Amino acid sequence: MKYLFGPVNSRRLGLSLGIDLIPDKTCNFNCIYCEVGPNVHFTCERKEYSPTDDIISEIDFFLENENKSKSIDVFTITASGEPTLHSGLGQVISHIKDKSSLPVAVLTNGSLLFQKDVRLELQQADIVIPSLDAALEKSFRRINRPAPCVKFSDIIDGLCLFSQEFSGRLWLEILIAKNINDSDEDIQTLKKILPRINANRIQLNTVARPPLESFAAPATADELQAIAQRLPGKVEIIADFSKRQRGVAGSAERTKIIEILQRRPCTTSDICEALDLDGESTAQLLEDMQETGEIVHMVHQGKKYYQTAHTSQTAIPPLQSAK
Ligand code: SF4
Repeated sequence: MKYLFGPVNSRRLGLSLGIDLIPDKTCNFNCIYCEVGPNVHFTCERKEYSPTDDIISEIDFFLENENKSKSIDVFTITASGEPTLHSGLGQVISHIKDKSSLPVAVLTNGSLLFQKDVRLELQQADIVIPSLDAALEKSFRRINRPAPCVKFSDIIDGLCLFSQEFSGRLWLEILIAKNINDSDEDIQTLKKILPRINANRIQLNTVARPPLESFAAPATADELQAIAQRLPGKVEIIADFSKRQRGVAGSAERTKIIEILQRRPCTTSDICEALDLDGESTAQLLEDMQETGEIVHMVHQGKKYYQTAHTSQTAIPPLQSAK
């Protein structure tokens, strides 16, 4: 499968089948915390980056051939970059809605919501999770480093318009990076703008996985808690997925692990959560895969992250990497 990955356990959504509309990193932002790596295409152009028919064929294959479709909670549309840049987004959502009663979630950086066609396509989704890391333009430029074609005022206008039109669940994610978008002025400005967006939930996150830039540092739990208390609305700090009885990792999981690591570096516990596996057998399998050269590891802020041998050369900036 080129476009489908998982199912993975998502902290927010449950057991989720991921759909990656654009496997080559294509984005109109270049966020300091991005876990996907440097952009292959840094652009605002909306077009068919991947053959939409091929994406739909994979979805049909999954629905028709895998009993797993009965056990997933949600389809999650994403991209190695920004999914709304793919002009076939609406077609993919409507196809899933025709074929399945499961909810469809879309993760987006929110930058194209000012475009009417994008808003119309997203209205078919059940859950839309846009980001707004800063309400101050200077902080937005520092953390998200947008392409020149992105206008900050369009993002705020697009979010406000979409929230008025969308009848599904709108969860706004704010990622806080220490000393980048967490000043008193930042929080005050967010506080003023959030009621206009009127999201069902506001989810606070911070830098977790190895970021694109080493200076992108996480906020502490206490700092996030203090920010949450100052913001209006239903604010939650995204917490770890609750523990469940977990399976034993075996060689059958190799392909799924590679699919996940091709998209982002993960710790052993990320893999355990994503695939609902126990820690001991997962750690052993990751060691085996490292020995065979399928994956490598690097250490970031004291944590060991795995990635595929291929992405370690192309997607992640050099940290302390080791085979
Ligand atoms: S974090 Fe998301 S929006 Fe930011 S550069 Fe990466 S893919 Fe694009």
